[in-house]
Amino acid sequence: DKADARIGALVRKRLETVGPTSMLFYEEPLHIVRGERVWLFDDQGKRYLDVYNNVPSIGHCHPRVVQAVAEQMGTLNVHNRYLHEGIHRYAERLLDTLPRTLNRLVMMCTGSESNDMALRLARGWTGRQGIIVTEAAYHGNTAAVTEVSPSSYKQGTPPDHVHILPISRMSEQADPAAWFAEQVRFGIEQLEARGHGCAALLVDSIFSSDGIYADPAGFLKPAVELLQARGGLFISDEVQPGFGRTGQGMWGFSRHGVTPDVVTMGKPMGNGFPMSGLAAREELLAVLNTDVGYFNTFGGSPVAVAAGTAVLDVIDEEDLMANATRQGEYFKRQLQDIQARFEEVSDVRGAGLFLGLDLCDPTRDGAPDAQRTTALINDLKRNGVLIGGAGKSGSTLKIRPPLCIERSEADLFLDRFEQSLRTTAR
Ligand code: PMP
Repeated sequence: DKADARIGALVRKRLETVGPTSMLFYEEPLHIVRGERVWLFDDQGKRYLDVYNNVPSIGHCHPRVVQAVAEQMGTLNVHNRYLHEGIHRYAERLLDTLPRTLNRLVMMCTGSESNDMALRLARGWTGRQGIIVTEAAYHGNTAAVTEVSPSSYKQGTPPDHVHILPISRMSEQADPAAWFAEQVRFGIEQLEARGHGCAALLVDSIFSSDGIYADPAGFLKPAVELLQARGGLFISDEVQPGFGRTGQGMWGFSRHGVTPDVVTMGKPMGNGFPMSGLAAREELLAVLNTDVGYFNTFGGSPVAVAAGTAVLDVIDEEDLMANATRQGEYFKRQLQDIQARFEEVSDVRGAGLFLGLDLCDPTRDGAPDAQRTTALINDLKRNGVLIGGAGKSGSTLKIRPPLCIERSEADLFLDRFEQSLRTTAR
């Protein structure tokens, strides 16, 4: 029909212009034109509940951010090599949410850049090259960061200086914390034996692309203590869990009672305005004392600072962390109830509004079911709900709505999800 023809024409145009590196979601790609709070609207006016996009974390097109950016854009926007008070105020306020030892903030534009700098700091500080990461992690797109992002080379082999932790085996462990520490110890020894040494353990503290591993809270602690005792740095990638998503605090690592050496952040930091940051101890940053220091043309611009400040204001004023806890607990309870009634739902995990749900095939001994996951993602889209997958085998559904989601919207998701479980039943 007409709508299909229009979508087809847009897909062709896209291939002819931006080319094939730019992947699209869904069997029938979605053409959206507007966003508001937890909703996205397509070109036909149909609305979709967005439980996928974690960048507009305080809600799509939040008027406070829109206004702050527009006003600053019309007043002054320039790189940060001039004095400007906004950046100090923002840095002070953000650093106040972190452990005291993390006393400096560097601002850039993407999560990849912040992780790229974290690797430089860890290697410069320790004089070692090896990095430990989890098996389906994604940390960004620069050449150095791609090496520590196994999800970017699923079929290939990791570089010699990268050690990979098999975190998908964690749910089978009686004592996850002891097991994780043992895996890290083994990794350090492997890297030492290969002559690289271990510069850092780099993990996303909610293990998003690995399939979301949140519990038991504190499971990272023994591993991080062991690593730090051996002089390695702990880099907490907060690009996904940061800015209140996990509910109890601003940062995912705090659930684990650990103090990172470096914290990297991005995505929700500007609610869609491209900005990212890295927090570290002052002496670590001395590693970058080259002639140019560190220059990032757009990082920490007055407009970025305005966007970031508005985001912090809204998290406080709308009490979004408390809402993330409240709605997250509700989601989890209801999803566990669904798990009890559908044998293909094999696990529900998460913290705050960052939840993962595993799908398996009961007729194949409960094997992970990536096909079913894809079918559900596409069926939910037809049903007005946007969701995505994660995990080593692609069989985890990721539930990450804006932090302002309300009970009625959670219920709508749960209702549609159950419907789609029936529609896609094998
Ligand atoms: N770290 C994590 C955990 C991420 O999920 C991502 C992006 N998906 C990045 C880093 C990279 O961020 P960016 O795309 O802004 O470079």
